[in-house]
Amino acid sequence: MAEQTTAPVNTDEIKSILDKHKDQVKLSLKLCAHCTLCAESCFLFHVKDKDPRYMPSHKFINSIGKLYKKKGNVSRKTLEEISEIVWRKCVLCTRCYCPFGIDIPKMIALARQICRSQGVVQQFDKE
Ligand code: SF4
Ligand code: SF4
Repeated sequence: MAEQTTAPVNTDEIKSILDKHKDQVKLSLKLCAHCTLCAESCFLFHVKDKDPRYMPSHKFINSIGKLYKKKGNVSRKTLEEISEIVWRKCVLCTRCYCPFGIDIPKMIALARQICRSQGVVQQFDKE
C-alpha cells in the first residue's frame, strides 16, 4: 500500500525529471514491439502464473510510459497506482532482456524516482 499524503502533486518537478530522460523514454516506447519476449526473463512473471500485469513491457509502459504520455500531469491517485506497479510488481533485479535494447529496469527505476519525488512510496521502501 502507498504511503498516504495529501500534498498537491508538483507537476513541474515531474516534468523536469521527465525532460532529462525524454529521448530515452520516447525511444523505448516507440521501439517496443509488444513481442512479449522480455516476459520470459522475468522471474516474477513466472512466479505469478504468467499474469500479464507482471510482464516487464506492461510494467514500464504503464508506469513511465503513462507519465510520459500525460506529460507529467497526473493525479496523486495515478502516482499511487504507478507505485504499486514499480514497487510491488518489480524488484529491479535487472534480469529482463529485450532484444530491441530497451533498458526496462532503467525505465521502471525512473518511474520510482518520480513517485518518490512526490512522496509516493510503498511502505516497505522506507523499512
Ligand atoms: S522484449 Fe522489448 S520489444 Fe518485446 S515486449 Fe518486451 S520491451 Fe517490448
Ligand atoms: S527488473 Fe523487474 S521486470 Fe525486470 S526481470 Fe526483474 S522483476 Fe522482472
